[in-house]
Amino acid sequence: MHRPHLTKRVASVKPQVVMDESQFELDALAIFSHPDDAELSVSGTLLRLKALGYRTGVLDMTRGEMGTRGTPELRAEESVAAARIMKLDLRLNLGQPDGHIWPTEEARTAVVRVLRAHKPRVLLTTHWDDPHPDHANTCRIVREAARLGTMARYDEAGKQPPVRMPAIMHSLFSRRVVPSFIVDVSDFVEEKMAAIKAHASQFYRPESNEPVTRISQPGFLDQMEYRMRYFGSLIGVAAGEPFFVREALNVDDPMALLTRPMNIYS
Ligand SMILES: [Zn+2]
Repeated sequence: MHRPHLTKRVASVKPQVVMDESQFELDALAIFSHPDDAELSVSGTLLRLKALGYRTGVLDMTRGEMGTRGTPELRAEESVAAARIMKLDLRLNLGQPDGHIWPTEEARTAVVRVLRAHKPRVLLTTHWDDPHPDHANTCRIVREAARLGTMARYDEAGKQPPVRMPAIMHSLFSRRVVPSFIVDVSDFVEEKMAAIKAHASQFYRPESNEPVTRISQPGFLDQMEYRMRYFGSLIGVAAGEPFFVREALNVDDPMALLTRPMNIYS
């Protein structure tokens, strides 16, 4: 069975660099605020990247201790289970304070150290215009850390060489930003839903006595799937995940790009 290298080590306060001992390189790293955010937002794309042969990882900024349901310990176990379903090579937790993620020097440095240790070429994260302050601040930290990691004199104490700046693809979830592109995740819908449901404390279970939250209502998981189906319909496939890229895209073969399935009504 696939065994992702996982660390559940967390810290309660700063500075909270939760480093993996191994220093292997990743192709793509998803950085999100809470332990189920990557699953909800980009797990179809992570599964697709894995199927294409890339090395994938997730960095959770917090343990989700502000969550109405579940405990940090339970959420860590659920994150491990979800990591296996997503076939991740690595999952890290930065132990930042849930509900209080800020672009502090500690937070930026911690992310820079992860980027320098694992050298991802592509980052997946939230869009900056997200109504959850943790999500918006995570996006800002990621963008700043991606740039700072290229500067040799930044965080010399970390004794890591600078890295090339990774490209950043922003997951579109909460606002109606027009996507730069949509990834076809039609083959990974079941695995994505299984990865989400691995966070059993957070979502609807008839037997649960915990307080009801927006995402634990019975219809929420259905809405997740409808979203995938909707974005898939915009590119003429069964399911998709939307992304925004701030920079101009460098296209090698416009014919190959523009003759893929699409929807003129999108
Ligand atoms: Zn979140």
